[in-house]
Formats: sequence, structure tokens, C-alpha cells
Amino acid sequence: MSIAENVKLVREKIAAAALAAGRRPEEILLVAATKTNDADRVRQAVAAGVDICGENRVQEMLEKQAQGAYEGVPLHFIGHLQKNKVKQVVGLAELIHGVDSLALMQALQRAAENKGLCQDILLEINIGAEPSKSGFAPEELPGILEAAGEFSNLRVRGLMAIPPVCRAPEENRPYFAEMEKLFIDNGEKKYDNVHMDFLSMGMSGDYEEAIAFGANMVRVGTAIFGPRSYQ
Ligand SMILES: *Cc1c(COP(=O)(O)O)cnc(C)c1O
Repeated sequence: MSIAENVKLVREKIAAAALAAGRRPEEILLVAATKTNDADRVRQAVAAGVDICGENRVQEMLEKQAQGAYEGVPLHFIGHLQKNKVKQVVGLAELIHGVDSLALMQALQRAAENKGLCQDILLEINIGAEPSKSGFAPEELPGILEAAGEFSNLRVRGLMAIPPVCRAPEENRPYFAEMEKLFIDNGEKKYDNVHMDFLSMGMSGDYEEAIAFGANMVRVGTAIFGPRSYQ
């Protein structure tokens, strides 16, 4: 199947999952997870109508950006961002999904302040409490949202999670349900520099499940581009 056909199929499944959950299909933004795919393949996905491109690696993003791969859609950074690379990402990526520590927030604040701009971010939650994964613990969230008030050049736009690898998509339901609750509960309170707009969760294997639990940004790679080859 071509990239265009895959995007069409993913869109249809997103729409069906949204309607089944009593939601409008337009509420759900499709982020193409473009890692390892070259500029030409990224352009095909953009032409096929993905809403956003999401990259994982700074160097790869800069190369494809220089080749005009993302023209026509916003660019997001969805990978693990190292503090020494924030300068290259701030202002280029419209939204940074995986912000996972206060130290990274401080580095982002400094970079955004130096560039005189306001950077949108999502806070990553380690929803499976996995030692191998980064992200805030759910119970840390209120304190972090409170601390966001100090970062006048950052705007927290919501939450992101990558649940544990499961054998079947429905095994992720408890994690997605917990994320939805965190998103709603913490969104009800008023914090400075926080607007709980986006819940980024769901990948190729489980985006329909995520949509059932309130995801409004799904990050889909394999189902659009096919299996990745890391060389
Ligand atoms: C690669 C990646 C995805 C997409 O994964 P697929 O299973 O290929 O859909 C989503 N989110 C992040 C953070 C990724 O790195």
C-alpha cells in the first residue's frame, strides 16, 4: 500500500474510533511519526493530509527541514530531548511532546527567553512507572504545573504518554484511562502558563484505544510508512 492509501485508512479508523466514543473526528490530530523516513516520503504523507509531522532526532529533523520536507504542516518534536540540544529545537518545533524533567523545562525556558519567543510543550507522564522510561510520575504533576508559573516563556499545552509495550492493544486501556483522568482533573484547575488542550497518546498499534480514552493527538509511524529500517 502507498503512503497515501495508508493515511486514508488511518484517517478512516480515527474517524470510526472517534464516532464510537461520541467524539467528532475533526477533534483528533494525526501526527505522522516520520523518524527514519526521508524527505520525499515525508512529503508524500503531508500531501496525503496528515495534520502534523513529528520527529524524534534533532539532527534528522534539521536535515529534513533544510530539504523542505515539512512544508505545509506544523512540525513537532516527539522524541527524547537532551538539554544540550534545546537551542536547535526551540522555535523550530511548534510543540515539544516529551518534556520529562524540571531541568529540561529550565533549559527550554532559557532558550525560549533568549530567542524572545514562547515555546509550547507537553509534559510526558511515565504512566506505566517503568524505570526504563522517562517522564513525570502522575503524583508529581500538580507540583510541576504549579512550577510552570515560573516559566514565562513556556506554555504547557497538555500531556503525553507512551504506555508499556503490550501484547494486545486492549491491555493499554488502564493506562489510557489513567491518562484521561489526569488530563481532565489537572485541566480543571487554574495554573499560570498552563492550557490543558492536548492529550498526545496512541501509536500504530493502539491509537483507536487511545481515542476511546480522550486522546486528541495520535502519533502514527508504522501504519503510515510501513516498518522502519534503522541502518
Ligand atoms: C516512533 C514513535 C511513534 C510511532 O510509532 P509507531 O508504532 O511506528 O506508530 C510515536 N511516538 C513516538 C514518541 C515515537 O518515537
